Amino acid sequence: MVSRTIPVDAFDLVIFGGTGDLARRKILPSLYRRYLAGQIPEESRIIGAARSELSEEAFRDMTRDALMEFLPAAKRDDTTVEAFLRHIRYVRVDATGQEGWDELRGVIRPGMVHAFYFSVAPSLFGNIAERLLAHSIADADSRIVVEKPFGHDLASAKALNAVLAEHFNEQQIYRIDHYLGKETVQNLMAIRFANILFEPLWKTEYIDHVQITVAETVGVNGRGAYYDTSGAMRDMVQNHLMQLLCLIAMEPPYHFDPDAVRDEKLKVIRALEPVRPEDIVRGQYLEGGGKPGYIEDSENPNSRTESFIALKVGIANWRWKGTPFYLRTGKRLRARTSEIAIFFRRPPHSIFDNAVDGQQNVLVIRLQPNEGINMKVMIKEPGPGGMRLVQVPLDMSFAQALGDEGTDIPDAYERLIMDVIRGNQTLFMRGDEVEAAWAWADPIIEGWEQRGDRPQGYHPGGAGPDDALMLLHRDGRRWREVKE
Ligand code: NAP
Repeated sequence: MVSRTIPVDAFDLVIFGGTGDLARRKILPSLYRRYLAGQIPEESRIIGAARSELSEEAFRDMTRDALMEFLPAAKRDDTTVEAFLRHIRYVRVDATGQEGWDELRGVIRPGMVHAFYFSVAPSLFGNIAERLLAHSIADADSRIVVEKPFGHDLASAKALNAVLAEHFNEQQIYRIDHYLGKETVQNLMAIRFANILFEPLWKTEYIDHVQITVAETVGVNGRGAYYDTSGAMRDMVQNHLMQLLCLIAMEPPYHFDPDAVRDEKLKVIRALEPVRPEDIVRGQYLEGGGKPGYIEDSENPNSRTESFIALKVGIANWRWKGTPFYLRTGKRLRARTSEIAIFFRRPPHSIFDNAVDGQQNVLVIRLQPNEGINMKVMIKEPGPGGMRLVQVPLDMSFAQALGDEGTDIPDAYERLIMDVIRGNQTLFMRGDEVEAAWAWADPIIEGWEQRGDRPQGYHPGGAGPDDALMLLHRDGRRWREVKE
């Protein structure tokens, strides 16, 4: 199958925090891969900006090292790397001072798409936004990209939105949730809205419940102090899992257009029911397998921060009333996996005497690893001996179905950065969406803080605390196994 890479306009992309971890691990390697795919026009430039005293050559060396470290060997060859590095510039800029800004203005060329990636702590967003305008570096056509965490609660998210809104309008602001850049997540929209097959069944009459799982095997490794101020609810549920839930639950937008899509997602968030305390299970991983527990990792012996959370969430609208969405995410679990599983209801009456109880159609959308879609259907077990039913997967691995294009799926950051250059905000969160998600999450967090709830310990390498299993058992349901 022929790869179709749609060219973008030539750009100047400034990465504030160009020397930081995110730039090295994700942004620069993603840009390189787009360059390799022929998508980056020759006149484009990528400009690192940070406080470190670095020559342009030293920043290129740093970029080369990052590509060596974070790209598989098959994805880099020396000639292309050196050609890519010719697009790299560096300007020393202090976000909190006046140094470097005039120089930065001198590097930005008119007639290009101008994008400014704020890959720095959110406390610097206001300083950078203000200086970009004060020094006439950005204008009404410029785009800015901001990273998670977008606020810590509703009040701080509103404050951040207000700071950005002082200098840029909403059409210029690209709030990244990299889950939205994943191929399968977009496929969720294609499955729902490009096929007639599923949409008539996509409602409480036919869908029993939905499970969204994002499981990690790692702990808080070195990020303990930061993570301890956040926890799984803030770090994962309020943003990533919420976005997935929205894409499953939203009404069809009138068009695949940024505001049409985001309007529909916002309606879902606003229709979320308050979560009852008995529908929340929070956990903290214990020591095990030769690795320290959460308490040691966070260096906070009294920590009440959750490294695992499971929730039962209801949506109060005609489509979903009566269909629970079970969300769970956690660290130090058995496998690294992200998936959405849509459990359909059982047929109202079985004509087969020996139908296997408990089996139902399940549509599984795998985000990682092995992005793909799997539909479990009942068929007759082959061979003589009567009508015995068996559940089999109708498996569509992207790799199998699409050949090279299926195995060579671009990283979410590649797609999102190119969307910024194209000026397409569909896969970015709008300010009101982020605020609505915090407005839902805040009372849940405040509830357990007021009650002084402690997370339950869970053993590493499993599926989280036992109570998380009970959350579904209680309703006569079962989580899918956490496995790759
Ligand atoms: P980091 O490794 O600490 O890097 C921070 C960057 O900001 C460095 O390049 C630093 O460079 C620069 N910086 C700090 N103060 C500055 C100032 N006054 N003026 C100009 N530049 C300044 O952080 P990170 O992990 O890359 O994260 C960056 C942002 O992305 C954060 O908001 C983080 O929450 C978010 N994020 C990160 C990840 C990730 O995987 N790392 C994932 C999701 C979101 P100098 O020290 O040279 O100035």
